[in-house]
Amino acid sequence: MKFYITTPLYYVNAEPHIGHTYTTVAADCLARFYRMTGFDVFFLTGTDEHGQKIYEASQKEGIAPLELADRVSEIFKNMWKRMNISYNRFIRTTEKQHEEVVKKVFNILLEKGDLYKGEYNGFYCVYCESYVIVEDEKNPLCPDCKRPVKEISETSYFFRLSKYQKQLEDLIQNTEIVKPDFRKSEILNFIKQGLNDISITRKNVIWGIESPTEEKYTIYVWFDALLNYLSGIGYLYNKENFSKYWPPDVQLIGKDIMRFHHIIWPALIFALELPQPKKIFAHGWWISGKEKISKSKGNVISPEYYINEYGVDPFRFFLLREIPFGLDGEFSEENFKKRYNSDLVNDFGNLLNRILNLIEKKFDGYLPEGEIDGKIIEFSEDIYKNYSEKMENIAFSESIEAIWKLVIYLNKYLDEKAPWRENASDIEKTIISVFYGIRNLLIFLKPFIPETCEKMSEMMGLDKKEIEKFENLKTKYSGRIKIRKREIIFYRKK
Ligand SMILES: [Zn+2]
Repeated sequence: MKFYITTPLYYVNAEPHIGHTYTTVAADCLARFYRMTGFDVFFLTGTDEHGQKIYEASQKEGIAPLELADRVSEIFKNMWKRMNISYNRFIRTTEKQHEEVVKKVFNILLEKGDLYKGEYNGFYCVYCESYVIVEDEKNPLCPDCKRPVKEISETSYFFRLSKYQKQLEDLIQNTEIVKPDFRKSEILNFIKQGLNDISITRKNVIWGIESPTEEKYTIYVWFDALLNYLSGIGYLYNKENFSKYWPPDVQLIGKDIMRFHHIIWPALIFALELPQPKKIFAHGWWISGKEKISKSKGNVISPEYYINEYGVDPFRFFLLREIPFGLDGEFSEENFKKRYNSDLVNDFGNLLNRILNLIEKKFDGYLPEGEIDGKIIEFSEDIYKNYSEKMENIAFSESIEAIWKLVIYLNKYLDEKAPWRENASDIEKTIISVFYGIRNLLIFLKPFIPETCEKMSEMMGLDKKEIEKFENLKTKYSGRIKIRKREIIFYRKK
């Protein structure tokens, strides 16, 4: 069984911000979940490096556009390393292999009659790298970013998007490709208004992949970027790998790029006569003080700050726990701290400390041997079922909610049995059972907070391998267990 997951390619005009981090952490969590389930996972991310905006930015710095792209793509790679992102491939659109695929696709579509030469008269927003329709032609502003746009009038190659209107409607109506479900009607309504063919080349834009037909045309940066999902797994050059992973099982995107991904992208796949992606999921935005977080608004939240202040895992945890994945959410340090203190410090971190202290005090650091309470075995099985269902629906916060039922249950179980009391009964069974429950928690939480789970398993005297697969839930750890050096992982923040 295979699982192919992608993030959008990030444009190298800016360094990684919370939006990029959000999508990438989510993709990483799913990739890890499916690997632990036993799937052969391919996780693709990377950088989008062509286009007029990059060219202009490089000119401002007085460097070559590729130099700018080299530098910023390296920053993305370092950030993902820091965030523990387990991608299989980081693709750059300036790679030769990718450029060859884009040119070949251009030729395939041209031969098929899906590309034709025409006249483009309209407006182009360099900031959004997007052809736009303006309200006021005398004072043309981009409808999305409100910046002044350029009027262009030039011959161009067009993609026959209109030809696929009916097929797109059927696809969206009858499959799961548009996710979450509430986005379906929005996309369908847009399509039903009628789709226009789209220009996919630019004249006089130097920084782009040259059209294979005429040198003075470069290929529109969005057309180029979308094709990474094909070239990234070997389309037209590594048949074996491509047929192993195609089609994508989940493609994660921000809701601002839905039209490119829910309309143009599937239309291109129809044109290439390939099977369609199974799910393309648009997540919401983080807002800060009621506005979308973006560089231009100056309300940027620095991932660096939260990583330094709280750690990588608490940051990953907050992003996926705080709000349902398809909706917008407010990012504030106050909310972050609340979540951190209550979930990670009080509930989870404390549970582990309590049990390790008990083992140390009562049994000299050795886990006693004996029977596990059947209630905890059963409860863990129920939680796993519930949690997997939520993960398959790309519902991260609900998955954690399900897992947290076990955290709460174990804390309560320990309170009720109170094995620290002199006259407590079943002391060994209580400790063994809670220990086993925590081991299961580490398996459940590993896709979300991998480093923490490994550290904790080590403190518990377990082999890292014990928490690597969901299959291990069925077995009890082997051998006599001696807990190891303890440290506090989550410190309460004031
Ligand atoms: Zn714009």
